[in-house]
Amino acid sequence: MNRTAPRTVPLLPFHVTEHFPEVADLARPTTLLYPRAGAPSVHDSSMGGPLLWPADEPWLFCEAADHYRPLRQPVETVGPFGVALTPVLQLYARDVPDLPMPAGTDLLQVLWCPLLHPPQHAPLPVLRWQRTGDIVMGPLLEEPPMPWEYDEECVPRPCFVHPTRATEYPGRDLPLDLRDSVEQRSKQLEDVVGLSYWDAAVATQTKVGGYPGWTQEPDWPVCCCGRQMEHLLTIHSREPSFGNPWLPEEDRLGEGPMWRRPVSPEVESSIGPGTGMSLGDMGGVYVFVCPQCPSSYEHRYDCS
Ligand SMILES: [Zn+2]
Ligand SMILES: [Zn+2]
Repeated sequence: MNRTAPRTVPLLPFHVTEHFPEVADLARPTTLLYPRAGAPSVHDSSMGGPLLWPADEPWLFCEAADHYRPLRQPVETVGPFGVALTPVLQLYARDVPDLPMPAGTDLLQVLWCPLLHPPQHAPLPVLRWQRTGDIVMGPLLEEPPMPWEYDEECVPRPCFVHPTRATEYPGRDLPLDLRDSVEQRSKQLEDVVGLSYWDAAVATQTKVGGYPGWTQEPDWPVCCCGRQMEHLLTIHSREPSFGNPWLPEEDRLGEGPMWRRPVSPEVESSIGPGTGMSLGDMGGVYVFVCPQCPSSYEHRYDCS
């Protein structure tokens, strides 16, 4: 059984570009990850799962002097000892063919310090691009260190991912001059069909590529070389559930049009509440890379 098999996004009652031709040129491919609770191994693509890591390579620790855990008593600031980074995402190139990989690598690992860090008051992600052939030649790390202090809301529970290719259109990145006309027709469409532009066109969930799943106004980082960076991936607290057309067919039950069917009770516990994280108030962390500077990455954070 393929434990990372793609899901099927339901067909909607209309094509986005049929009603909103002005966004056709803004379509972007994305790979939706659909994390579902489970027990992935180091050889699986996963969210919050164990990482493929050489036994002789030191784990990563954060020693930021000002990182903190909200409401920790008697003080919020944590220290002076380093805090082990926690696994957030592991993606094998074979599972996510659209993930841009630096030459010679075939594995992306995202870890972060599970405390909050000024000035964004967010976890601090670290990206590692690896060549699996080099790692599996030797012994693997069996028991990675656990952080001795962490913010529960920043630690995803172990999930398999189900990378699924889709097309999406801008939500908060919709150009200002298009917003009014889209909004107007979106309302009309919602009255008739029960789906708005925002429902049908915008995927706010954990994904690779596409548009960042902003819950606030966009804030694209600029690289030190002067270029606007590109969205690599979004790690989100939210996953589509009841009433969301992006909920995959495999996770639905019942009769009627597929995109309206409710969540299957069997899978509800593995979807909701998402990955067990609540970044801020169900916000996201957005990771960006520069196409010119292979080792350069940045992140943004927001909460709804
Ligand atoms: Zn830290
Ligand atoms: Zn750059």
